[in-house]
Amino acid sequence: MPRSFVHEARKRVGPKRARIRPIIERLQEAHPDAKIALRSCDPLQLLVAVMLSAQTTDVNVNRVTTVLFEKYRRPEDYLAVPPEELERDIYATGFFRQKAKSLRGTMKMLIEEYGGEVPRTLEELVRLPGVARKTANVVAAELGTPQGIVVDTHVRRLSQRLGLTREEGPVKIERDLMRLVPREDWGRFPHLLIWHGRRVCLARMPHCGECAINDLCPSSRV
Ligand code: SF4
Repeated sequence: MPRSFVHEARKRVGPKRARIRPIIERLQEAHPDAKIALRSCDPLQLLVAVMLSAQTTDVNVNRVTTVLFEKYRRPEDYLAVPPEELERDIYATGFFRQKAKSLRGTMKMLIEEYGGEVPRTLEELVRLPGVARKTANVVAAELGTPQGIVVDTHVRRLSQRLGLTREEGPVKIERDLMRLVPREDWGRFPHLLIWHGRRVCLARMPHCGECAINDLCPSSRV
């Protein structure tokens, strides 16, 4: 896109600080059902589901955890079976050897250092084997204590299209969003962008004509 056109588009929609609230409000209206698609009934199940979701779909994880959570109910259960058995039980989520290793390491640390409970802070969560910042952010937010903003492929794409960041890397994008998005919205904001990204602002063909925020978006094709 030519530079002058981008400049004009940014001027037309106004500064991002003035746009962020209406963007959140309208996306909330458009996607009142936006929430995490991974199924879980307690913090341990949530942590396991998010860890298994790397490099696969939420639908696939839900299919696997429906059976998995019947068998593995406490951290000890993941350590009570031979590693190969756990690998078999999570095989369908892909990268099963690495994921099984991370799960076993995480369960061991939960038992030894956290009394078998899932910790709530980002610093504690990222200490768990195989738990990176994105996983920790998702878990903390779902447990009601968001301490950052989850940046996945949809959040990245939409933040850039909406002119909320000019960065490419997830860490810098998250930093920009944390400066901009009101703290009370850190938990729901990524869900809104993810659902909008899946339903309307598709990667290859954004449906700008049907978009509830097209007058607030510098990339609108309308
Ligand atoms: S106007 Fe188009 S590019 Fe902008 S958020 Fe909506 S669908 Fe995406």
